[in-house]
Formats: sequence, C-alpha cells, structure tokens
Amino acid sequence: MTTGRVCVIGGGLVGLATALQWLRARPGAALTLLEKEPVLATHQSTHNSGVLHAGLAYRPGSAKAALAVRGIGLLTGYCRDRGIPFEICGKVVSATEPAEIPRLRLVEEQGRQNGLTGLRRLPSPAAIRELELPFRGEY
Ligand SMILES: Cc1cc2nc3c(=O)[nH]c(=O)nc-3n(C[C@H](O)[C@H](O)[C@H](O)COP(=O)(O)OP(=O)(O)OC[C@H]3O[C@@H](n4cnc5c(N)ncnc54)[C@H](O)[C@@H]3O)c2cc1C
Repeated sequence: MTTGRVCVIGGGLVGLATALQWLRARPGAALTLLEKEPVLATHQSTHNSGVLHAGLAYRPGSAKAALAVRGIGLLTGYCRDRGIPFEICGKVVSATEPAEIPRLRLVEEQGRQNGLTGLRRLPSPAAIRELELPFRGEY
C-alpha cells in the first residue's frame, strides 16, 4: 500500500472521486488536491448530461462495462448517504429503421451480459409514450 504523500491534480469528478477513494482506504493520510480554478468542478463535470451510464453500450468483459455498472451503485449509494437527490428514470433505446434492429438486439444482449436488471422490450410506440409521460416537460 502507498504511504508517501499523494497529490491529485484537477478537482473535477475524476480527481475528487480518486482523492475520496484514496483517503477512504487510508484514513488520516495526507493528500493534496490542486485545482487551478477558484471553485471545484467548474469544467466538464458540471457541464454534462447528468446521466448515469448504465453499461448498455459497452462490450461485455471490458473495463468500461464493469466500471459503469459498479459506478452506478457507488454513485447512488453516495447520493443516498448524503441526501443528494437523483432519479432512476430508465432509458429508452430505439431503432429508427429496420436495419437498426440487429444492433438493438446486440445492445440488449450486452446489457444482460453486463449484469443490468430490469431490461425489457416495449411492445409499441404507445408503451414508450406511457413510460415517458411522468417525465414530460421536466428537461
Ligand atoms: C457533452 C458531454 C456530456 C456528457 N454527459 C455525461 C453524462 O451524462 N454522464 C457521465 O457520466 N458523463 C458524461 N460526460 C463525461 C463527463 O462529464 C466527464 O467524463 C467528466 O466530467 C470528466 O471529469 P474530469 O474530472 O476528468 O474533468 P473536469 O470536470 O474537466 O475536471 C478537470 C479539472 O482539472 C482542472 N485542471 C486542469 N488543468 C489543471 C492544472 N494544470 N492544474 C490544476 N487543475 C487543473 C480543471 O480546472 C478542472 O476542474 C459528458 C461529457 C460531455 C463532453
């Protein structure tokens, strides 16, 4: 285990999460975080779509797939512990033309292999509208 002084450069999501995990594993250790702006996370981390990526699109067995699935658990747990609101509203993935249907099936299969639960096929456009209804106008 590393015991020397550690410096994390960049106070966005990646730097802050790295610093947090490092300190959790070494309570009382010293860590320096360097951020060039006067406030943390003023760049990409506060200018994104705010979506928890579910791991649907990532190749099974890849680091991206494993990290996305594990990351959702870690992030939602972090938010629950601190009373930070979040919403698991689901995601609709659709084919817009018949040629895309094989790709859609691949995405579904990848999602299953990546360990996602709650995946289901919607039978009709009306079912999509019904699913989206509670969220209309919120974004
Ligand atoms: C359009 C868009 C939408 C996205 N949507 C999503 C999404 O829905 N869900 C998702 O999970 N991800 C999303 N992402 C990706 C996500 O936003 C990034 O992966 C994440 O914010 C990267 O965090 P970061 O800490 O690496 O970068 P940043 O948040 O940019 O942090 C880097 C920090 O380093 C500091 N810095 C830079 N150079 C120095 C220096 N020399 N010394 C000190 N400090 C320095 C900067 O000031 C900054 O604070 C999206 C990305 C884009 C572009």
